[in-house]
Amino acid sequence: MEFIADMHTHTLASDHAYSTITENAAAAAKAGLKYLGMTDHCIQMQDSPHLWHFLNMRVIPDMLCGVRIIKGVEADLIGYGGELDLTDDIRRSVEWINVSIHDPCLAPSTEERITDTYLAVVSDPKVCVLAHTDSFGFPYDYDAVTAECKRQNVLIELNVSRLGDPRSVKRLKEYILPACIKNGCGIIVDSDAHFWSRIGAFDRAKELIGEIGFPEELVINADLGRFEKFLSLKGITPVGNN
Ligand SMILES: [Zn+2]
Ligand SMILES: [Zn+2]
Repeated sequence: MEFIADMHTHTLASDHAYSTITENAAAAAKAGLKYLGMTDHCIQMQDSPHLWHFLNMRVIPDMLCGVRIIKGVEADLIGYGGELDLTDDIRRSVEWINVSIHDPCLAPSTEERITDTYLAVVSDPKVCVLAHTDSFGFPYDYDAVTAECKRQNVLIELNVSRLGDPRSVKRLKEYILPACIKNGCGIIVDSDAHFWSRIGAFDRAKELIGEIGFPEELVINADLGRFEKFLSLKGITPVGNN
């Protein structure tokens, strides 16, 4: 399985990440990727860049080192009604939205409330991915959410940086990925790199996918045609047409 995109990466604009977008793009090119998502934390996280970071992203070329740079954000859920820490300006300025729950922005809650939160946010047409939903303390109804993600063209993330935690692996293997298979919900493998050397380093995800026999056709960033079809559904310009 070969990957063509890594759509959850951080630059040093998030204080606890350490590489520039140019270093990240060079690493993506070296890893054979065609697309790189630049998705720094949004304004409610402690390490987030200034609002202007997002409003000025258009100055970054669409292509760097032969890689299409998709300007995005890792937005935080800040309310159980699906509210995100996005302003209207940020929403207009970014092409790609990963949605995350981090406990500094949303307190752990019941399965029912977390499920309702995810169900609400995936109806936002600009949301592309529910990121690292394996987070401990935030259980949800895997069947209901993956079915709705399928309906709304939102991907579930297999976040490689979480695979060092056996609790995340267990939740992915036993609940999240089987629910994706049952409902035909696409997934995306992402590094969540906070340093350039992690970009496109997906070996652990490949092992997990192989181990459970996860169908390759549901891995959206393992095929250029599949990935570009997803981009077109979201109204995002692919390589070569910008
Ligand atoms: Zn995160
Ligand atoms: Zn992240």
